[in-house]
Amino acid sequence: MLDFTHDDWKARAATLTFRNQAFIGGRFVDAADGDRFDCINPATGAVLTRVASCKAADVDAAVVAARKAFDAGHWSRAAPGERKTVLLRLADLIRANLAELALLDSLDMGKLVTDAATIDAPGSAHFFQWYAEAVDKIYDEVAPTGPGDLALIRRVPVGVVGAVTPWNFPLDMATWKSAAALAAGNSVVLKPAEQSPLSALKLAELAAEAGVPDGVFNVVPGFGETAGQALGLHMDVDCLAFTGSTAVGKVFMQYAGRSNMKPVWPETGGKSPNLIFDDCGNLEQAAEMAAFGIFFNQGETCSANSRLYVQREIKDVFVDKMAALAASYQPGDPLDPTSKMGAIVDKAQTERIMGFIEAGRDSANLVCGGRQVTVSGQGLYVEPTIFDDVAHGDPLAREEIFGPVLSVIPFDTEEEAVAMANDSVYGLAASVWTDDLSRAHRVADALHAGTVSVNTVDALSAQTPFGGMKQSGFGRDLSLHSFDKYTALKTIWIKYRP
Ligand code: NAD
Repeated sequence: MLDFTHDDWKARAATLTFRNQAFIGGRFVDAADGDRFDCINPATGAVLTRVASCKAADVDAAVVAARKAFDAGHWSRAAPGERKTVLLRLADLIRANLAELALLDSLDMGKLVTDAATIDAPGSAHFFQWYAEAVDKIYDEVAPTGPGDLALIRRVPVGVVGAVTPWNFPLDMATWKSAAALAAGNSVVLKPAEQSPLSALKLAELAAEAGVPDGVFNVVPGFGETAGQALGLHMDVDCLAFTGSTAVGKVFMQYAGRSNMKPVWPETGGKSPNLIFDDCGNLEQAAEMAAFGIFFNQGETCSANSRLYVQREIKDVFVDKMAALAASYQPGDPLDPTSKMGAIVDKAQTERIMGFIEAGRDSANLVCGGRQVTVSGQGLYVEPTIFDDVAHGDPLAREEIFGPVLSVIPFDTEEEAVAMANDSVYGLAASVWTDDLSRAHRVADALHAGTVSVNTVDALSAQTPFGGMKQSGFGRDLSLHSFDKYTALKTIWIKYRP
């Protein structure tokens, strides 16, 4: 697949068929009211298909199916090794359908098909495999007691997990939630973002083929204010895992308070700082990774390093390097393997990004980019854009833009850099570039972020938790810690004759 040409991808896209119904109780079904919404390719403006627009009645049907399956126990009470076998099969099926899954995400939200085929879709298979392999290696606990008492501390599945995901990594976000939740024995009702529901629906098909029992994995495409709200307010959803914006994360916490007090796990926005110290020995690599950190996935990455703090002595040299690198990230057709950046997800997001850029022209120095462009006369694209000398209080330095826009801010001292980096409502990720080991530890300790990458950006793996601090939320995806969200601790205390 890595050697697929532009023509190969276009030919595959032309013959692709789309799952466009909800998946409830093991069957693909229309929304109860028959409503559908357009699924639009932002690279062309073409309507790919019309997808079932689920509302409260459909969400309720999915939750009922999920509860029934949970209570039946075919999955929830199956031996961990049985769930493992099924989820390993799902990982294999994802690998067997890699090109199709990659195309679905690329067409749906504009990301480069090559990235989807080499990062997102293989990542999905890897995470399902990782949780499948983990689940029969986790032990419960026995508490210390006196003779005559046996106190078991068991981890039990919470029940019905509601999962609400964003559009920037559609397949991976669906995977990060459902792989761990399913492995732990829960039933899942997933609501993908309305901009990008197609890969989640394909995932449902593959999960059924792998042997996930009917009702255990359900997908309800629809809008936030309808399907998302119905899931958040549902009285029989035991836990709600959310990834998306900070504003909507707060709304989900309100839904919980207004309904059944379900635990809500928000994983939300970011404005991640990247600190370049003048003792960094490899400025070329630092610049390359800084460019990747902001321009990968069109900057539509929650942990994008959108604030670049550079020590004043090296700032101009570093910005020159960044401008040269930005030139290589010019947008192109997402299906063309030579393109370095794809299309912006939709018109609203493009307008939002351009709004920040237009305001920034007056408040900071535009180094490069700054224009909305088309490719072959069509599509929604924004040039890789760098602003220099951005004031600390400028919206460019404070708001999550969620586009290919980098704000450069000079600093003089380590204390000043850390203080500015931490002066944000967000705390998702941060990066530090230095050859001084003591400084690396000191700054990593001082930064308020869920992940601090030293001499790299955006470090993540299945083995390490991913999530934020402050208003980046407190849920954690990935790693064994993800099971904390999807299991409840249960004490079973047994008295016996010693
Ligand atoms: P969003 O908050 O607009 O939407 C996320 C999901 O919530 C979608 O499924 C949407 O339909 C639903 N939703 C929206 N309004 C709702 C409402 N009123 N009630 C119920 N559901 C509602 O976010 P987005 O634009 O899809 O994604 C971008 C955001 O996601 C960015 O802020 C980004 O930082 C964040 N994100 C965070 C992480 C992380 O791990 N922390 C990962 C990826 C993306």
